[in-house]
Amino acid sequence: MAAQIAGARIALVTGANKGIGYEIARALLEQGSVVLLGCRDRNKGRSAAERLAAARGAGSAVALDLDVTRPSSIAAAARDIEAMYGRLDTLVNNAGISVEPRAPPSAVSLERVKQVYETNVFGVIAVTQAMLPLLRRSPAGRIVNMSSSMASLALISDPEAPWSKFGLLGYNTSKTALNALTVMFANELRESGIKVNAGCPGYVSTDINGHSGYRSAAQGAQIALTLANLPHDGATGGFFGDSGPIPW
Ligand code: NAP
Repeated sequence: MAAQIAGARIALVTGANKGIGYEIARALLEQGSVVLLGCRDRNKGRSAAERLAAARGAGSAVALDLDVTRPSSIAAAARDIEAMYGRLDTLVNNAGISVEPRAPPSAVSLERVKQVYETNVFGVIAVTQAMLPLLRRSPAGRIVNMSSSMASLALISDPEAPWSKFGLLGYNTSKTALNALTVMFANELRESGIKVNAGCPGYVSTDINGHSGYRSAAQGAQIALTLANLPHDGATGGFFGDSGPIPW
C-alpha cells in the first residue's frame, strides 16, 4: 500500500501550521513535493513554511491563505494554485476542530455541534469541490481526509470498547459524516483515477486534545503519507489506520 508515486507532486495540506498537518507537510516535503500549507492565520502559515524551508527537504514549502470555513478564502486558494501550478496532485483535508466539553449528547449545545461541522464536514466538502478541477488534471490525484476512530459506528456501538465512553457528539459524528462523504466522493471519482480515503492518525499529542495523546504528531502523519502515496491499483473509499482497515 505504501509504494511511492514518482515525480514532484503539488500537495495541499489544510491546517498545516501545527500538529499533525505540519508533520504531514514536513514528510511530503522530504519526499520532494511542493507543499502548500493551507493556513487560516497568515503569520502562522508563513512561520511554518519558513521553519519547513529551513529543514532539509527535497521539495519546497509555500504558505497559502486558506480558511476552510470561508468560501471566498477557498476560492482564492484554488485560483492561486491554478495560477502558480495549474494542477493539484494531493489534497490532505487535515484541518479539524473539537470545541465541545466532554459531556453526554443530551447536554451538548447545538451551536457547538454546528461549529464543529462547519470545519470538519462542510469545510472538507467545500475545499474538495473547489480543488477537484485541479486534481482532475493530475496523473494520480489523491485525496486524504483526516478522520478518527471515534467516527467508527462499529467501535462506538460496542459498550465495552473505550471509544463508546468518549462523549463528543459534534466531533464524533462530524468524523462519521466525513467518512460517509469520503466514500461518496470515492464512488464518484473511481473512474477518474483519483483516490479518496479516510485515515486515522491514532491518539496523537496535539493542541486539539490538550496534548493528552500518546503518539507523536510525526507518527500521526504517517497514515496520510501512506494514503497520499497509494499506487494506481491502491484502495479508494476506505478507512485506514497504520495497521490497516478500520471498521466503519
Ligand atoms: P491541532 O494541533 O489542533 O491542529 C489543527 C489544525 O487545523 C491547526 O493548524 C488549525 O489552525 C487548523 N484549522 C482549524 N480550523 C481551521 C480552518 N477553519 N481553516 C483552516 N485551518 C483550520 O490538531 P491535530 O491533532 O493536528 O488535528 C489534525 C487533524 O487530525 C484533525 O482533523 C483532527 O480531527 C484529526 N485527528 C486528530 C487526532 C489526535 O489525536 N490529535 C486523532 C484523530 C484525528 P489554527 O492554528 O489557526 O487553529
